[in-house]
Amino acid sequence: MQEMFVAPAFGKSADAGSLRQRFAARRAPYEWQDSSILTRQRQRESNARSYPRRLPLALRRAKGIYVEDTEGRVFIDCLAAAGTLALGHNHPVVTEAVRRSLEMELPFQTLDIMTPVKDEFVSQLFSMLPERFARHARIQFCGPTGTDAVEAALKLVRTATGRKGLFAFHGAYHGMSQGSLALMGNLGPKQPLDGVLGLAQFMPYPYSYRCPFGLGGVAGESVGIAFIENALKDPESGLLTPAGVILEPVQGEAGVIPASAAWLGRLREITAAAKVPLILDEVQTGMGRTGRYFDFMHADIVPDVLVLSKAIGGGLPLSVVVYHESLDVWQPGAHAGTFRGNQLAMATGLATLRHIEGERLDRHAAAMGERFRSHLDSIAKDNAIVGDVRGRGLMLGMEIVAPGAPATMAGHAPPSRDAALLIQQECLRRGLIVELGGRAGATVRLLPPLIIGADEVDTVAEILRSAVIEATRRFQPQRESVASA
Ligand code: PMP
Repeated sequence: MQEMFVAPAFGKSADAGSLRQRFAARRAPYEWQDSSILTRQRQRESNARSYPRRLPLALRRAKGIYVEDTEGRVFIDCLAAAGTLALGHNHPVVTEAVRRSLEMELPFQTLDIMTPVKDEFVSQLFSMLPERFARHARIQFCGPTGTDAVEAALKLVRTATGRKGLFAFHGAYHGMSQGSLALMGNLGPKQPLDGVLGLAQFMPYPYSYRCPFGLGGVAGESVGIAFIENALKDPESGLLTPAGVILEPVQGEAGVIPASAAWLGRLREITAAAKVPLILDEVQTGMGRTGRYFDFMHADIVPDVLVLSKAIGGGLPLSVVVYHESLDVWQPGAHAGTFRGNQLAMATGLATLRHIEGERLDRHAAAMGERFRSHLDSIAKDNAIVGDVRGRGLMLGMEIVAPGAPATMAGHAPPSRDAALLIQQECLRRGLIVELGGRAGATVRLLPPLIIGADEVDTVAEILRSAVIEATRRFQPQRESVASA
């Protein structure tokens, strides 16, 4: 099926209306037969491929929150390239920025040499940061992946402090290079790699539902933060003062776990008192996703180092580290990289940031998030397999459990990977793309484009509800057998 690439559908611009109408017109759940394009993918691509294993799709068109595959099936995309597509697919603001860049014959790549687009991009980004942070900020353009920006942040604080280790958190995800893997909570990807384990000490994250202290809520948070304070202060904690403390203010891959404003505020105080740079990885939370331009604004704090990627490039690859000028003591060339000067990404990023600001999509994300939240709470109330609903703004998750099974992990039913997988599949059959994450991969995650409308939120929730009901029905026997065991 090589002709796919030159088929008219590839080049034709899909209008959102047509995909939306086609989505609304779908009737029976979609069925799957093995297609040749997916067979070729399986045969030729690495065993490390991940998403296609559970989302067997070959996508050919996309507009707004909708994507269409080569079989003509239309889906609502609540994965949106892992939260990257803040404005959805092919937003006119973004496509116009690409078109204009081509018309203006912008250089494609400039390393870190200056351009007017880059200048405007930095001004726009800094104008969206709290003034007290922006006033003393420096920016480093990176790889262009989130991972590379995390690497840069690590090198920055290690150079500036002359210290080596980092404090990271249970459940953390900061990327896939060997440095960022050292900060990862999940042992799976790092266990085969000798040598990446030594860099970080892991602190408890305020994961209320599965609180490591068995407490949850404010009590669990308080014990956790006291533990971290002690680790930094106690001369006999056995831990060297770290070069930095790095965290996601809402953990994404860990299963959408938000840290409260109070906990973040206290962590800021503790790290400041210990003179340890606080690195916030807002690769996933940044640019309006959680209801503010940056998630840390909810807690009214500022970090020492801010890591940004995903949405910041408007869908094209871009990543930056923004940090306090006092840390800027690394040497020229300390973090180089060929693709730090992607002008198209700066143009689409600039257009996207302006649009987020102009349309106050941060506020829209907060409102849509609340609407989503009440749907999810209602689904959880009616279905015991939904153990927990959590998130902030348009970064939401439902942890799926095996009700009736003996409680593990902080007094709650164990996570059910099988039921979560079934929900994901049932969503897909009904035209909804969602991702899984978290402990045992049992959290259904929602990362829709920030432009999602109220009626679309309702549609997504309706599909989720019917997928959860289906999973409840199918997992009922297991529940009964567990209960009677
Ligand atoms: N940090 C966080 C919080 C992330 O969610 C991710 C990606 N999911 C990364 C870093 C790594 O970004 P990338 O995949 O672009 O390297």
